[in-house]
Amino acid sequence: MTITNNVSLKSFNTFGIDAKAKSFCDITSVKTLRNVLREQYSNPLFILGGGSNMLLTKDIDALVLHINLKGIEVVDETESTVIVKAMAGENWHQFVLWSLEHNYGGIENLSLIPGNIGTAPIQNIGAYGVELKDIFLNCEAINVKDQSIRTFTKADCNFGYRESVFKQKLKGEYIITSVNLQLTKSNHKLHMDYGAIKNELIISKIDTPTIQDISKAVISIRQSKLPDPKEIGNSGSFFKNPIISADQFIQLQENFPDVPSYKVSEQEIKVPAGWLIEKAGFKGKRFKNYGVHNKQALVLVNYDDASGSAIFELAKLIQKTVKRLFNISIETEVNII
Ligand SMILES: Cc1cc2nc3c(=O)[nH]c(=O)nc-3n(C[C@H](O)[C@H](O)[C@H](O)COP(=O)(O)OP(=O)(O)OC[C@H]3O[C@@H](n4cnc5c(N)ncnc54)[C@H](O)[C@@H]3O)c2cc1C
Repeated sequence: MTITNNVSLKSFNTFGIDAKAKSFCDITSVKTLRNVLREQYSNPLFILGGGSNMLLTKDIDALVLHINLKGIEVVDETESTVIVKAMAGENWHQFVLWSLEHNYGGIENLSLIPGNIGTAPIQNIGAYGVELKDIFLNCEAINVKDQSIRTFTKADCNFGYRESVFKQKLKGEYIITSVNLQLTKSNHKLHMDYGAIKNELIISKIDTPTIQDISKAVISIRQSKLPDPKEIGNSGSFFKNPIISADQFIQLQENFPDVPSYKVSEQEIKVPAGWLIEKAGFKGKRFKNYGVHNKQALVLVNYDDASGSAIFELAKLIQKTVKRLFNISIETEVNII
């Protein structure tokens, strides 16, 4: 185990923020992780996956544990399903591609989401009508304090919209080391409710799509809408879509008849945060070297060496403006560090 001091995290976060870690350790085995925790748990620790869901607003005055555990294996299968165990440091999208090569279905709609498999349960990643919870079986995690290993079932994880027990009650208490997903081998259930997916398939003249076709459609849509972090620093959707009461929605609709919405329940309506931010005039706004993306108002971007604190100030200004104009609070989806 090597611990290095004063390490730049610029290449370890997709926003490309040049924050420094007081010290840094690359974790490539569960044994090393347990040893480090045993020796260091009383010191401040910071867990880093792919760095695609965080805005670093300051240097990290802690030992950064970079979760780099690798390995993918089939642990059980029936005629129609397969259970795959993937170690936490595997890249999510590479795992999706591996599954598609083996014709395992269930995660094709989640193609091209950056980050690691071990982090996917933390915010119950989701896109195009599918969430991690739909194929999640369980995950293994190590307790930071006593290094005991615990298996979390789907019920234990308490998944919600971009939420789980790991962001709430157990925040900071466990490090996920591996995830078991249940995928289909045949009779794949295709999720094509999103108009954009249907359109993409029509453009490609595909009328009996496979899971591979759905993945290609999703990749194409995402590439046309979202900035590639390798070119422009960003962390994907910066804010969550707010859920408001049906009564509040009726009021909002009186003032803004074109407001889009999704029904969550009889009493709750989800409103796209991107629409609110665009209406508030922020879409495409650039402040020196950072701003709001011109194709997707939900995405804040670092054009060139911006500081995390400047981007955070912009996020707060957006939140304040949306609150003033629509009386709606929008929460950040990205972890502010
Ligand atoms: C261009 C772009 C598009 C995106 N699109 C989507 C999308 O469509 N849907 C979606 O849901 N998300 C999306 N995201 C957000 C992001 O990809 C996901 O949240 C992803 O799961 C984050 O993984 P990560 O490994 O990069 O997490 P990190 O940013 O490294 O970490 C996120 C949080 O989890 C903690 N953590 C990391 N690893 C572990 C672990 N093993 N155990 C315990 N805690 C840990 C960290 O301390 C931190 O608090 C997008 C991001 C980008 C940049």
